[in-house]
Amino acid sequence: MSLEAELAAIVGTANVITEAEALRPAVSDWRGRYSGRARCLVRPAATAEVARVVAACARHGAAMVPQGGNTGVCGGAIPDAGGREVIVSLARMNRIRGLDAANNTIAVEAGCILAEVNRAAEAAGRLFPMDLGSEGSCQIGGTISTNAGGTRVLRWGNMRELVLGLEVVLADGRVLDAMRGLRKDNAGYDLKQMFIGAEGTLGIVTGAVLKLVPRPAASATAFVALESCEAALGLIDHLRGALGDRLSAFELISAPQLEAVLAQIPGTRRPLATTAPWWVLLEAADSGAQQVLDDALEQGLMQALDAGLARDASVARSGREAQEFWRLRHSVSEANVKTGRVISHDTSVPVSRVPEFIARCSGLAGRFDGLRLHVVGHLGDGNVHMVAIFPPGQPGLDALAREVSREVHEIAAGLGGSIAAEHGVGQSLRDQLAICRSPVELDLMRGLKRLLDPQGLMNPGKVVPAG
Ligand code: FAD
Ligand code: ZN
Repeated sequence: MSLEAELAAIVGTANVITEAEALRPAVSDWRGRYSGRARCLVRPAATAEVARVVAACARHGAAMVPQGGNTGVCGGAIPDAGGREVIVSLARMNRIRGLDAANNTIAVEAGCILAEVNRAAEAAGRLFPMDLGSEGSCQIGGTISTNAGGTRVLRWGNMRELVLGLEVVLADGRVLDAMRGLRKDNAGYDLKQMFIGAEGTLGIVTGAVLKLVPRPAASATAFVALESCEAALGLIDHLRGALGDRLSAFELISAPQLEAVLAQIPGTRRPLATTAPWWVLLEAADSGAQQVLDDALEQGLMQALDAGLARDASVARSGREAQEFWRLRHSVSEANVKTGRVISHDTSVPVSRVPEFIARCSGLAGRFDGLRLHVVGHLGDGNVHMVAIFPPGQPGLDALAREVSREVHEIAAGLGGSIAAEHGVGQSLRDQLAICRSPVELDLMRGLKRLLDPQGLMNPGKVVPAG
């Protein structure tokens, strides 16, 4: 029997897609950076079906590409150009299996959309604290497989910190059932960790038990003008003292980046009349009274102004104003794409070395004709998105992009940093991994891949460089 016929017997003919037109949205990414071809796309509806799909592909020697919401930025969910890979879509596995309010956990299938999980948590008076601009499309399985970050990592951690249990279909079709909602569990190796951030190269995530937290009753948002990015380090340190772990977001934005948003996005307006070379958008959240939080933030900011850590600050006076502040931050990618040819980076360095990282990268602007640098980042995590922009149509752009990226990545690695902080490696950074990973680390990665996927059928060509 052909593989397609076997797959149809497992999931039904309607859930094995082979026509080029129907496959189109699944074989390229939303930014149009990566595209490939697929033998077919299969849509299982249950873990047992995923297991049978994987076993059938393994018998036929067919490589598989797990796909969630296809919102990733590194080409991890896109098949290669060969037209022989099978895309395994988790879209039909979108059931919430259960919410345990007393345990503060929710058990979900991997295809659940992040926003749905957020809604279910809210309905139970809880918060699932993963905040991504892609929440309306990205799936829990995708956020787990990329170990997604976002703006609230500062307080609640990456996806890795939010996963208590996991269910994974292994490359040979066996099911690893570790759907435990335990906060303490030292019974041997923590196997689930291998699959978090593995970008579908070690198995297919089919379910997860996620941590919930009490829903904050109060939140406060402020936009702050700063003299330098060193001042931003001083400000976060000061506010952590003043607010404790109520500080939930601390986003750094350079003046050219803010100006690009104001120029390109209709309906946006300047958060403060002041001009400044650096800006911070920050948020605090608390389960206590709104007034207490407002007072604490106000007082913390006043002290910061007195101490010269900030030039000016504006606290949002309404939910609407807070949303307007956040819109400036969330419009960064759209504004940059309208400005020119964008080469974005996803580096991290120790928080203390962020100013040095930015200063060294700024040196690149003088060396590459036409290059503009926009800086936006999650300062509290040391995760800076250094965005390099060339004028559209500049000759030799591809070569220039490679050269600039290599330099940015080497600067980060030289400061003890990473070239893949929150978006993953996929196909885009695979061949640069050695910039920030030692031969021993790469060797262990290859060994793990061989152990869990001896036939090399799980998302081949992604993450792990050839040895
Ligand atoms: P996909 O793109 O479908 O897949 C991503 C990778 O995971 C691929 O390698 C794929 O093979 C694998 N995969 C998917 N599902 C499974 C599964 N069930 N089992 C095994 N492997 C699987 N990321 C951040 O970290 N922080 C941000 O702030 C952020 N903001 C974003 C804002 C926007 C507007 C967009 C479009 C993206 C943003 N992202 C951000 C990117 C982020 O990686 C994704 O939104 C999300 O984590 C990927 O989920 P997905 O379901 O779309 O995965
Ligand atoms: Zn980010």
